[in-house]
Amino acid sequence: MSSKTLQIAITGLVQGVGFRPFVFRIATHWGLTGWVKNTNENVIIIITGTPVNIQNFLISLKQEAPPAALIDEITLLEIEPISFPSFTIHESHDISSQITEISPDIAVCEECLHDIDQPGNRLDYPFVNCTNCGPRFTIIEDLPYDRGKTTMNSFAMCPSCRKEYETVTDRRFHAQPTACSVCGPHYELFAGSNLISKEIGIIVNHVSACLDNGGIVLVKGLGGMHLACDAFNETAVKRLRAIKNREGKPFAVMFCDKESVNRYAHLDQNEERSLISWQRPIVLLEQKTESGSLMTENLNSGLNLLGVMLPYMPFHHLLFRQLKTQAIVLTSGNFSSEPILIDNQSALDQFSPFVDATILHNRDIYNRTDDSVVRIMGGEERILRRSRGYVPAPVRTAINTDGIVAFGAELTNCFCVGKGKKAFLSQHIGDLQGLETTLFFEKTITQFLKLFRVNPSLLAVDMHPGYISTKTGLNYGDLPIVQVQHHHAHIASCMAEHHLDEKVIGIALDGTGYGTDGNSWGAEFMICDLNDFERVTHFEYIPLPGGDLATEEPWRMAVSYLYKVFGREFLNLELPFLRNIDPERVQLVLQMIDKKINSPLTSGAGRLFDCVASLLDLVQFASFQAEGPMRLESLVRKDCTESYPFQNLETFCFDQTIRNIVKDIRNGIDKGTIAAKFHNTIISVIFEFANSIRLNQGINKVALSGGVFQNKYLLEGALEILQKNNFEVYSHSKVPANDGGIALGQLAVASKRRELKCV
Ligand code: ZN
Ligand code: ZN
Ligand code: FE
Repeated sequence: MSSKTLQIAITGLVQGVGFRPFVFRIATHWGLTGWVKNTNENVIIIITGTPVNIQNFLISLKQEAPPAALIDEITLLEIEPISFPSFTIHESHDISSQITEISPDIAVCEECLHDIDQPGNRLDYPFVNCTNCGPRFTIIEDLPYDRGKTTMNSFAMCPSCRKEYETVTDRRFHAQPTACSVCGPHYELFAGSNLISKEIGIIVNHVSACLDNGGIVLVKGLGGMHLACDAFNETAVKRLRAIKNREGKPFAVMFCDKESVNRYAHLDQNEERSLISWQRPIVLLEQKTESGSLMTENLNSGLNLLGVMLPYMPFHHLLFRQLKTQAIVLTSGNFSSEPILIDNQSALDQFSPFVDATILHNRDIYNRTDDSVVRIMGGEERILRRSRGYVPAPVRTAINTDGIVAFGAELTNCFCVGKGKKAFLSQHIGDLQGLETTLFFEKTITQFLKLFRVNPSLLAVDMHPGYISTKTGLNYGDLPIVQVQHHHAHIASCMAEHHLDEKVIGIALDGTGYGTDGNSWGAEFMICDLNDFERVTHFEYIPLPGGDLATEEPWRMAVSYLYKVFGREFLNLELPFLRNIDPERVQLVLQMIDKKINSPLTSGAGRLFDCVASLLDLVQFASFQAEGPMRLESLVRKDCTESYPFQNLETFCFDQTIRNIVKDIRNGIDKGTIAAKFHNTIISVIFEFANSIRLNQGINKVALSGGVFQNKYLLEGALEILQKNNFEVYSHSKVPANDGGIALGQLAVASKRRELKCV
């Protein structure tokens, strides 16, 4: 049979994931000759062989690609037949500003774990990696992805590593971070600021003994420092909270394996898939409440959700081989409100006085990442915090976002830069309130623009004049700028994720965002497209006595709603929650509302959830963001189908809802039932609105966004009733529904306005 030659161009996530060695393997397997090389824009393959073998090769290419590879597009071109002596891998060439993608960091693979059990240079070596696993984004300084442009640059390969690196059939062929105990990075153990050991055996023994005895250690990870302690040791967990200055926010827990997770938390198929995926995120799981399976309440402040992950670095595996405990708290090494630390010296300076041991290593972290957080809702993985394992994989868009920089929101900030039809959403930056986080924000924007070779030509910001992200955007340079309303951006983000570019019913249930009337919006029912929105209705405005303070003290919202519904009469209702509030403070709040002092108006859904959480006396002073809504959700009695009345007037009015909740409380109805009835009420509101718009306007697509949709009961309930009634419903999965997804929406709106020549 005569031979033919094919030129194949592949775009997508195909660099740094073992793609070229994979191509080499399948090409030689099918007896083809030619070459493969990385360019800045794609992977190019030239193959010569029989049509049948080429066909088989193409099938293997699509079906057997390495786990972390993501093929976007394959273009085939038959060219004049060329004959080659063999199949080879060519060096990389820096040829254009069009880049391919950078792989996120990949959890250590089974084969590498096997390697650390074998005698030789990698016995117990904690930096083992190969083309299928290891650090990527966190060590990359620039493209194309070659060792010289990573933080592995300072480690010269030993002859043995080099041989593997250069052997096409080897699993470490062109694995940029290839290393061994002879030539690679190493860990160091410190007590206080004194170096104790560089021996991995000694370090692991010391650290595991320390943790098992209730100690607290700081350990440098993949994208930053972690603080760790035994997850079953109440005293240690309390002490860790004190060190971090973090009162109630739940801690993530790393378990030694899947089986031990199962002992303490419910794990369905989808949750298990996320848990063991190469991204190794923190998965929010429902705790088992059977006796004997309870962990210390201090981990998650008595919520029924537990953030769980499995080991992903070789060091974690080495540690669990020695540890007696099955689970350790692994929380970001930083003081609350600051970004996760990445620098060795700062870690020693800031934490060595407080912890029992510090374990650092000498491979620098270039791009900081936190552990990502996901939750399975409606049978799908929903990313709530997008960082390690997911970033910097782009979100593919239907519209051209080239050159747009979107600066995101204020809290749980992520920004986003556009390159063609790819949106590069940054890793979780955090709350832009402290100086350190702001510096991280600014520096990462610069790094992203350089890494992805984006030349900014259009900027997008929130409308809130006080956001640091807005100010940064406004001062960024002499470029056109688009200001996007917060909840329009939420819905646009959901639309962009699902490639929607038309009029949809947009329902944003959120905490707070700056409205075009100057009020604090947060439960917005809209008809919108990417360009613009019409606010059809919203939750009725209610005073927010104390402004931002009211979001931290849910009782203020309860008082505000009660005052609206009952007037001062509510003071005579003997509501249990009021027993815990100083009556003078209640009077003060009433005066603030009367005199309109520091009581801006809000339509925030989060505030209504806060109000109900307070009425049920679940929380009066929140110790972490969204504590009220989270506690309320965790109580819901799932077999309850009742709901409360509400009114659909000019806006959605909840006077009847509040009246009935108060009645139920006074009648001693259990909190789980009240929580369920309240959630069901909000689900009815969503459905009623969608229905009315479909009737009047014939729109059948519904986009749901905003932080409230991180609530599993609410999201699943809304999806169910809308889908049962034949709506096409869109919700977030690859991008957070919270403010971490806002930047993508800003990017989409800016892109649309540019297309329409409105900017
Ligand atoms: Zn590996
Ligand atoms: Zn070596
Ligand atoms: Fe928001």
